Amino acid sequence: MTVTPDGAPRTQELAQRLRLVRDRIEAARAHSHRPDPVHLVVVTKYFPVQDVAILAGLGVTDVGENKVQEATTKFLHLPRPAVRRHFVGQVQTNKARQVAAWADVVQSVDRPKLVTALDRAAQAADRRLEVLIQVNVDQAAGASPSTGRGGADPAAIGDLAALIADAEALELRGVMAVAPLGADPRAAFDRLARVAGAVRANHPAATWISAGMSGDLEEAIAAGATHLRVGTAILGSRPSHR
Ligand SMILES: *Cc1c(COP(=O)(O)O)cnc(C)c1O
Repeated sequence: MTVTPDGAPRTQELAQRLRLVRDRIEAARAHSHRPDPVHLVVVTKYFPVQDVAILAGLGVTDVGENKVQEATTKFLHLPRPAVRRHFVGQVQTNKARQVAAWADVVQSVDRPKLVTALDRAAQAADRRLEVLIQVNVDQAAGASPSTGRGGADPAAIGDLAALIADAEALELRGVMAVAPLGADPRAAFDRLARVAGAVRANHPAATWISAGMSGDLEEAIAAGATHLRVGTAILGSRPSHR
């Protein structure tokens, strides 16, 4: 679809899909008897910054990206505080400075070295970052970050949480996970909820549970997700996968 200079067709398209997703969220909340709000982070990876601006105009408050280079190009010049910027992808420690320059929330913290690098980078930039620990909830035999979904081993979460809590420029907000491909997402989200409870026992402010994407947001809400990360259902199919 071509976008006219005023962007109207794209605006209508995004508005319509956003409404459908919000309806799904409300229905799932009602079904799960969840009186608390469920926050929507719209994942805009592969889509232009113009879409971010349109989404902000439609009332979207939070957007997410998963590639450092793309996100840095897209967000560095976006007027603040139009939307809250989340990073949800893998971060190499040598890219921590780039992420700390614009991210408000880093959802994908999964190892001590990254905690140290982000803390140092945020301090140097005179910024504070809210962070989530990405948890590997894949219980399949031999599952590891090499399966591509990433995340820290549940056994390592306690130490990681303590390290983040002690970091000067980081605030521990909770946990995040991506459901394993081809497995029951509900079981994975229940595992995440248990990890979240354990973290919260020591860090009462770590209340966020980021789970649920376009295909499994209902299961995530049923399992207690406070934040959803939705891309395709709002933006449409991504132009291409690497
Ligand atoms: C791309 C992405 C999403 C959004 O996935 P959709 O299936 O397009 O909704 C959510 N979380 C992470 C970590 C992602 O990389």
